[in-house]
Amino acid sequence: MSTNPNTILSSVFGYAQFRAGQEEVIKQLLAGRDCLTIMPTGSGKSLCYQIPALALPGYAIVISPLIALMQDQVEQLDALGVSAAYLNSTLNFAQQEDILTQLNHGELKILYIAPEKLLQSHFLDKISNFPPSLIAIDEAHCVSQWGHDFRPDYAQLGILKQQFPRSPIIALTATADAATQNDIIQLLGLSEAYHYVGSFDRPNIRYIQQEKFRPLSQLEQYIKQKKNQSGIVYCTSRKRVEEVNEYLQRHNFRSAAYHAGLTLDERNWAQGAWLKDDLEIIVATVAFGMGINKPDVRYVIHYDIPRSIENYYQETGRAGRDGLDSEAILLYEYADADRVRWMINQNENIQRAEVESHKFASMTALAESETCRRLVLLNYFGEQKDKACNNCDICLDPPKKYDGLLDAQKALSAIYRIGQSSGFNHVIDVLRGANTQRVREYKHNELSVYGIGKSHSQEYWLSILRQLVHLGLIRIDITDNAHLKLTEAARPVLRSETSLQLALPQINKSAEITKETK
Ligand code: ADP
Ligand code: ZN
Repeated sequence: MSTNPNTILSSVFGYAQFRAGQEEVIKQLLAGRDCLTIMPTGSGKSLCYQIPALALPGYAIVISPLIALMQDQVEQLDALGVSAAYLNSTLNFAQQEDILTQLNHGELKILYIAPEKLLQSHFLDKISNFPPSLIAIDEAHCVSQWGHDFRPDYAQLGILKQQFPRSPIIALTATADAATQNDIIQLLGLSEAYHYVGSFDRPNIRYIQQEKFRPLSQLEQYIKQKKNQSGIVYCTSRKRVEEVNEYLQRHNFRSAAYHAGLTLDERNWAQGAWLKDDLEIIVATVAFGMGINKPDVRYVIHYDIPRSIENYYQETGRAGRDGLDSEAILLYEYADADRVRWMINQNENIQRAEVESHKFASMTALAESETCRRLVLLNYFGEQKDKACNNCDICLDPPKKYDGLLDAQKALSAIYRIGQSSGFNHVIDVLRGANTQRVREYKHNELSVYGIGKSHSQEYWLSILRQLVHLGLIRIDITDNAHLKLTEAARPVLRSETSLQLALPQINKSAEITKETK
């Protein structure tokens, strides 16, 4: 076999050109230098170690925390005629011994191994007289407490540099802020490493945020326009996954649920059917997606706000791997964020809770941003750009501010007139002059405020009321059935002693943006 990276690229992998960063990283590794490679998901990290593994004599070790991913990679390499194997807890003793024998006989080029297997001392002892040509540490952010996926086994991988000082190490990850990068270098002993940080921009993904009104029908409307296209809907809980999936199935969409509460068979079935396009939609918790490589995912919808920008980026990044136009839709409301904050604060591990609330604050800042979302996102990963992207909801349809004093007065008076004794829905019913049982029962149709907002939709008023909550003019009284109450700050507004700018509610943003630009 050739030892020239370009030849291997074309003859083994069938690709004509390297992608950004690959060639340089490969060159450094071949020269024996350690590397820290930070490249977004889907940008081709695997080739960065697979090609040197083939070019160098002997075998390479690849440490990966994900069993499913190892199997996948080994199968793909097998299909390309590369002798690869994996070593993890799914193998029995005889199978493990067999792999060591193959290694010893020089029959393997690439060995994937789970960190806990590698750290068992007899493994390192057994290979001590035929050290690996190189060591790749995939998902390297797992070494860091500051990362979003800390794994104690990973923190011990520093032993590799001591044990195999002559084998270059490449640490790879798709997500590492500055603190995490530092930990990777410290803990793995990579102080001389060549750093490659790729661009995190995914220009073909359009980022759109929609205010959450009636999320199920918003979802339905959206997916209807995407007939026969592949998509993922992420929800935060299993219960929510079930609920959303049932709704979609009831409305004749080909969808399936995926979460850790299902059996392995059920999950494999759902994943397989979706990969083969027998299903259009997979409704999933974050348990879904690691290592899955479906190129033509046209949209990723976040039904609930994710816990961090890392998660958001990782999950939306599963769209558009083929480079074609794709969309990432985030359904957002303030109340969701409050719930997440509350949950984070329940964590008894104070340090963990702090890391998480910090990360979540960045995520809500992205969701509430009034400037280009892509700039906010890239900036989070330390990538500076100065030009707005023209491919996110803010760029395509900038938030419009308007003089909201009159609307605010209508909403605040309605709350006041009905005795501050109801939640959002009834206030909106009164504003819009709805003829409901409750309106009749309390004679709210006789109030002066009844129907004063009937020229606007339910969603319009919900958006206005939420903004007033956010601005501190209304509070949601959780000690009283979540009824809406006026605060002191509402007074000057009611008396027209102040001005008030509000954001013009944008009811069906993605539908409009999609229409406009297609
Ligand atoms: P990552 O590990 O960064 O998420 P992968 O290594 O799985 O990404 O690569 C993503 C996809 O891109 C794979 O299908 C891979 O075969 C393909 N790929 C990688 N490098 C190239 C290249 N130079 N030319 C074309 N396709 C490539
Ligand atoms: Zn933008």
